[in-house]
Amino acid sequence: MIITNKHGVPEPLVTLASKEYYSKGASQYSVTEIMSPPKIKRLREQYNDQVTQDVSDMLWNLLGSALHVVMERGATDGWTMEERLYKEVDGVTVSGAIDIQQETPEGVVIIDYKFTSAWAVMQEKEEWQQQLNVYKWLVETVKRKKVVGLKICALVRDFNRHETKEGYPKASIEMVDIPMWDSVTTEAYVRERLNLHRDAKVSADFGDELPACSDTDRWQSETIYAVKREGRKTAIRLFKTIEEANELAEKEKGYVETRLGEPKRCTGNYCGVAQWCEQYQGEINVPA
Ligand code: SF4
Repeated sequence: MIITNKHGVPEPLVTLASKEYYSKGASQYSVTEIMSPPKIKRLREQYNDQVTQDVSDMLWNLLGSALHVVMERGATDGWTMEERLYKEVDGVTVSGAIDIQQETPEGVVIIDYKFTSAWAVMQEKEEWQQQLNVYKWLVETVKRKKVVGLKICALVRDFNRHETKEGYPKASIEMVDIPMWDSVTTEAYVRERLNLHRDAKVSADFGDELPACSDTDRWQSETIYAVKREGRKTAIRLFKTIEEANELAEKEKGYVETRLGEPKRCTGNYCGVAQWCEQYQGEINVPA
């Protein structure tokens, strides 16, 4: 990957960003890799020497790395920090680096740090559930210890102490409980993800078309129908279906404005490979 410095930040930050902080040890897949869309992983591998990212877009990654380094200084009895566990599944080694394991008389509580937004803390983040449950499965099957709790330690980067919205974090560090799965469910999830990655690898090796990213993979937002009236700036109401919107627009003597949903990961190139992706390029380059 090529790291650029478009905003002239100090060079040591660029050096830091260029170093590979993340290691998946001797495994073929890390937990976060199996969770990620197979198409993105393969395209990133294929175009690794051309993928570009500006150092200014890597602030939270850099702070995440810094946090892991600092955490090592906080060693405390009864708390295991930064342990990487390995597990073989159908001939493939998967590994996960667990930020914190708290030993309690009842069992282990797994905690993962996340630099995140207040909005994310207020949502049910499916990927937090998947990641922490795979960690739970690793601890239970590799260390043979019972796991009694999963928590995200959310470091809320945009916390505002004057915000009163329901569910808003109470402080800039918020502990979020994550629902636990049983090991059968988790193992099925791991196998399903590994199969998707295996298929994508075979396609990449043979030069075939890669499996498509799903709407979830692409962060597809919904199309919204806004009922509006001449002379009024804001919408009267928003609907998910055109029929409901048309009905109200007729009553209100207004009109309907369609706000098309979009695959935000593609349009914002958050995957980093949008320019080489035939799925996305095929959509935006449709002949008129
Ligand atoms: S551009 Fe969109 S569809 Fe293509 S790899 Fe990226 S996220 Fe997936």
